[in-house]
Amino acid sequence: MTRNGIHHVTAIAGNARRNLDFYARTLGLRLVKKTVNFDDPGAYHFYYGDAEGSPGTILTFFPWEHAAPGRAGVGELQETSFRIPQGAVGYWMQRLTAFGVERTQRFGGTVLTFRDPDGMRLALVGLPGIEAEPAWDNGEIPGEFALRGFHGVSLMLDKTEATGAILSDVFGFAEVAREDGTVRFQAAGTAMGGIVDLRGVGGFLPARLGRGSVHHLAFRAADDAAEAEMVRKLAANHGLRTTEQKDRNYFRSVYFREPGHVLFEIATDIPGFAVDEPAEKLGEALKLPAFLEAHRESIEAALPVLA
Ligand code: ZN
Repeated sequence: MTRNGIHHVTAIAGNARRNLDFYARTLGLRLVKKTVNFDDPGAYHFYYGDAEGSPGTILTFFPWEHAAPGRAGVGELQETSFRIPQGAVGYWMQRLTAFGVERTQRFGGTVLTFRDPDGMRLALVGLPGIEAEPAWDNGEIPGEFALRGFHGVSLMLDKTEATGAILSDVFGFAEVAREDGTVRFQAAGTAMGGIVDLRGVGGFLPARLGRGSVHHLAFRAADDAAEAEMVRKLAANHGLRTTEQKDRNYFRSVYFREPGHVLFEIATDIPGFAVDEPAEKLGEALKLPAFLEAHRESIEAALPVLA
């Protein structure tokens, strides 16, 4: 079974309530999971996505109230883009005025670029023919205008070749276009999260991780066997070792630093976000992994207030 493309993007935010307001209300994504950072249970981990939290729609955040701002640079994910129907471009130009939205053209299509409240670079890409795709209704944004999952991401790298080789050989992407120093890779047959743009910008300062930065980029593997095969190829063909597999409750993951220094993850499509709460109630209750459940009371007391 082939399942290619982006699984999720994980970024660092500042204030948790402001992050929730921007992504769930302003952008109209569904909060599909409210949990804590498994490695730092004093902080939330928010997952936003479509109605089911499908791979290819999931943007996640570690909101750390006192995180210093990040600095854009080489070796990181620079911009995350979402798909919108072509007819929704005007609606979003107006709705995002306060977030510095600008209209531009890339690879022959209309793109709106803007920043979230922590300075994270985002874009909406207008696409024809996707009006009928299902969309999450947050009660405020008309369904015809709602976001339809990821379009893709762009990585800013010193050199693009070694990263491109991994996209092609391990993750099922192929080079499809070039424009202004950017090489576009696309995963065949994948509508949501099927694009990775590599920007080669030799000589820039390295990025510094912080508020508004992307922490890592995760690619899809259908299941454990598909993930293991990707791990094997990374070692055999690219000389790269991953971490041991980690159980993230909603998927199982391995991590590695790709040659351009971006932290990559491979995450399984299974079991998904309905594994510990009903699909219709996703994101409502604070969910904890089994090893933290005994500490729920103290964890809840220490987390920031959201309402
Ligand atoms: Zn991840």
